[in-house]
Amino acid sequence: MELRRRHSSGATATATATSYYGRSRILASDALPLPIRHTNRLFSALFVASLVFLMRRWRQKIRSSSPLHILAFSEILAIFGLMASLIYLFSFFGITFIQSIISSHEEEDEEEVDFASERKPSSCALVEKPKLVTETLPESDAEIVELVVSGRIPSYSLESRLGDCDRAVRIRHEALRRMTGRGLEGLPVSGFDYSSILGQCCEMPIGYVQLPVGVAGPLNLDGREYYVPMATTEGCLVASTNRGCKAIAESGGAHSVVLRDGMSRAPVVRFPSARRAAELKAYAENSANFETISLMFDRSSRFARLQGVQCSMAGRNLYMRFTCSTGDAMGMNMVSKGVQNVLDFLQADFPDMEIISISGNFCSDKKPAAVNWIEGRGKSVVCEATIKGEVIKRVLKTTVPALVELNTIKNLAGSAVAGALGGFNAHASNIVSAVFIATGQDPAQNVESSHCITMMEAVNDSEDLHVSVTMPSIEVGTVGGGTQLASQSACLDLLGLKGPNPESPGSNSRLLASIVAGAVLAGELSLMSALAAGQLVKSHMKYNRSSRDIAGAAQ
Ligand code: ADP
Repeated sequence: MELRRRHSSGATATATATSYYGRSRILASDALPLPIRHTNRLFSALFVASLVFLMRRWRQKIRSSSPLHILAFSEILAIFGLMASLIYLFSFFGITFIQSIISSHEEEDEEEVDFASERKPSSCALVEKPKLVTETLPESDAEIVELVVSGRIPSYSLESRLGDCDRAVRIRHEALRRMTGRGLEGLPVSGFDYSSILGQCCEMPIGYVQLPVGVAGPLNLDGREYYVPMATTEGCLVASTNRGCKAIAESGGAHSVVLRDGMSRAPVVRFPSARRAAELKAYAENSANFETISLMFDRSSRFARLQGVQCSMAGRNLYMRFTCSTGDAMGMNMVSKGVQNVLDFLQADFPDMEIISISGNFCSDKKPAAVNWIEGRGKSVVCEATIKGEVIKRVLKTTVPALVELNTIKNLAGSAVAGALGGFNAHASNIVSAVFIATGQDPAQNVESSHCITMMEAVNDSEDLHVSVTMPSIEVGTVGGGTQLASQSACLDLLGLKGPNPESPGSNSRLLASIVAGAVLAGELSLMSALAAGQLVKSHMKYNRSSRDIAGAAQ
């Protein structure tokens, strides 16, 4: 009802109901099947008519001093109608109301349990978490390997059939070795908790890849010190970032500011005509409708809070970019659930809306896109420091003017020549990827998380250097995804950012974004200095080519 009124006026949002349950009840009644809605209206009308009739009759009787208990046939009928409609309306709305309270309590309870146990991420939509049921199988691993190799047991079902994740991985590893004839000796199997990834992080595991984790720091950021874990196989990277951290620390530290914090998801829907698509665009962007849309959206999680909807059109296709805060989660699951709620809600009033995809690429996830560079995605952070001229000479082995000139010619002009999109920096992606992998972030989001413009200016009578990195789309979380795995969570713990922040949800993930930006600042300073001093090739030859490699290459 509310939604239809809103359409005709184009403006009024659901404003009458005040309580959460009241609102959801009104909105939910719109979704009821037509015959039930007609019956509801009939009984409501009967209730009102009977009540009005009886009130009038009793008023007349009181005025004419007639006894109230002597009832005419019409009054008996009205009382009967009143009772019947009361019983119907109570059984319909009262029971649904109580159910809604019970179910919402259940949802809350679920969240509480999750919160307390640092909930593991929800499973991938395509993969149901296999139930660990032991079936009658041959006793020996060798016989099961045989069954997998011959195709009589699907490899993916090993975990559920055996009820033992470690054994499943050993058997799959061996079966693959036999099927391919490849040794796989360097791919370790034991020493990893495979139950921690089951149905959540990786399917059909055959082992794990080892990556060294180095540490850069202390990074002096906003008055605190952090030791930054970096998982990488690129020699020089950690050493270089460490040198940048030293220069920052000896100059009084860096400072960061988080400008924005919101994850986005943009579904694409299609209409029979561009005019209809434009109607939904107008509706979605009308601030008067924000309350209704956010009410639907925010039901996805107690941490999801809709911030806005930005629409764009291509012909009769409409792309709606929903942005929301997601607490300490990176938030892709959360925002997707919220978007689905809104689409389900809108479908009732826009029956000609065809949902093409929950993601229409205007989000834009894991692809270089101007929308993230301009509007931001995840956390938008600026991190700055003033590096003393003396430190630049002593630690970074270069000068302020050399750095300023190089930054202009390389990071600004050079990137413009290359037609860069968010790539106005020397190597932000190096640091972002290494910290992402160490702390269990999604490494594919390095694409937009590495968007960065590095600025360098001479200050204090050209004595010192003001350096900053502006990164509009750092996508990080301290819960969900790979963050709960043992090694990754140890790295988060090193930063004091393991899991959710119970007092202030979202502050852990925002601080992690600031640390990423701070480490990028250090990395930019150091690499730019190496380039300005012409040291890059020399240091890479030292750290990237070990004597063992050189000896091997010579053979
Ligand atoms: P993502 O949305 O990043 O993919 P998930 O949805 O997999 O992350 O994980 C987030 C889960 O963690 C949600 O179920 C949420 O209820 C729970 N959670 C617990 N504490 C927090 C918090 N402080 N911030 C965000 N989510 C939290």
